[in-house]
Amino acid sequence: ITTFAERDVALFGLGGSGLATAKALKAGGARVLAWDDNPESVARAGEAGIETADLHGIDWAEMAALVLAPGVPLTHPAPHWSVGLAEGAGVEIIGDIELFCRERARIAPEAPFVAITGTNGKSTTTALVAHILAQAGRDVQMGGNIGTAILSLEPPSVDRIHVIELSSFQIDLTPSLAPSVGVLLNITPDHLDRHGTLEQYAAIKERLIRGADLAIVGIDDRPSREIAERRGDRLVRIHVPVHSPRDATLAGDALIARDAAIFDADDTRLADVSGIGSLRGAHNWQNAAVAVAVARALGISSEAIQAGLASFPGLPHRMEEVGRRGRVLFVNDSKATNADSTEKALTAFRDIHWILGGKAKDGGIFPLVPYFERIAHAYLIGAASDAFAATLEGAVPYTRCETLDVAVRAASEGAEASGAPEPVVLLSPACASYDQFRSFEHRGDRFRELVREVL
Ligand code: ADP
Repeated sequence: ITTFAERDVALFGLGGSGLATAKALKAGGARVLAWDDNPESVARAGEAGIETADLHGIDWAEMAALVLAPGVPLTHPAPHWSVGLAEGAGVEIIGDIELFCRERARIAPEAPFVAITGTNGKSTTTALVAHILAQAGRDVQMGGNIGTAILSLEPPSVDRIHVIELSSFQIDLTPSLAPSVGVLLNITPDHLDRHGTLEQYAAIKERLIRGADLAIVGIDDRPSREIAERRGDRLVRIHVPVHSPRDATLAGDALIARDAAIFDADDTRLADVSGIGSLRGAHNWQNAAVAVAVARALGISSEAIQAGLASFPGLPHRMEEVGRRGRVLFVNDSKATNADSTEKALTAFRDIHWILGGKAKDGGIFPLVPYFERIAHAYLIGAASDAFAATLEGAVPYTRCETLDVAVRAASEGAEASGAPEPVVLLSPACASYDQFRSFEHRGDRFRELVREVL
């Protein structure tokens, strides 16, 4: 990244992407002064050959920019102290995606650049788009908010497609964001604790859509629909009638996802996702419809798109099929750390032997009561057991298992003994994992191991 060659740049936030950014800037000839509130991160950066300096004490008048890591608050709930110092000195504040955009504008402005955002489904859609393109033989670089930091990827070029997941924080730090394809999946009030009002949150997401050559927008929630209405041309609307009242007036560039298939506005079937385990559930039909729209825009054939959908392995810990014993299917949905996410899993299956619990979130599992008829038996683990037992009482039979080890064995036996044609043992905890595990990944990995033992 030569944007700041021979200039001084301040960088705050030395996690994975911060380190990658510091290295890329340095390689491009910038002098980087990096810092973090965590002394361990500062030490690690020093060991990696990055010059560290407490940004309180530097000469801000000399700085060309402050580069912030995503997640360091720019505005809400309060700006980070480094933001105050940069603003006081009139220094611009940007993130690593902005550095990528400037580099692309300089070396390969025609390079295909797909940028994907939304409240939910970003990672799944990003991985699915990248998978379809790679299976079709394209050179794909995937990263950003998923996996690899953007500045650790190969540089942009006309015959290489960057598929980048963006959080709102990252968009906020990218003033010249102008992707060739911009995707907005949906906007729901999930992360408002970190973004202020819904209006502010939606305004950030709208910047991605305004800057894109081609915009692809899910129109099933009001903020996203309004953004689509303001966009004008070069727009593909994505409609999932299960999520919002069927819009029969939809014409022109629009894709409709219903009955596990993707249709255009003339009702021509473009792709089928029925029987694709990794794309179960109406929320995944939306993700698939977006991926179909992106792939079509990039000139991928219908056959290649269908083949890519069919071979998508899915992401680990998100309704991941981890095994089958006879009629019994085992599904790892450890990423479901709240009732909203678990709701998606419960709508996708029946005859569910449900393993749930951990460290409960506000509201517990009350929002899931409408789906209790799909549950054959519940197996409770962790700290939330008492609270969840009270909600299940009288509606769903349950067993207190305390640990995941006990729960997997009990659920496996319960499913085996049931007369249902395809019972499902589902880990979808609706809880954080910290009472018994390091992370949701740790919990899901343990589940996979335990399932292997009972197979
Ligand atoms: P993100 O990267 O935006 O957090 P993921 O693809 O990791 O999204 O999916 C996280 C969870 O969000 C899934 O387990 C599922 O419950 C839910 N989800 C996925 N796609 C959608 C969608 N299009 N609409 C609503 N919820 C979704």
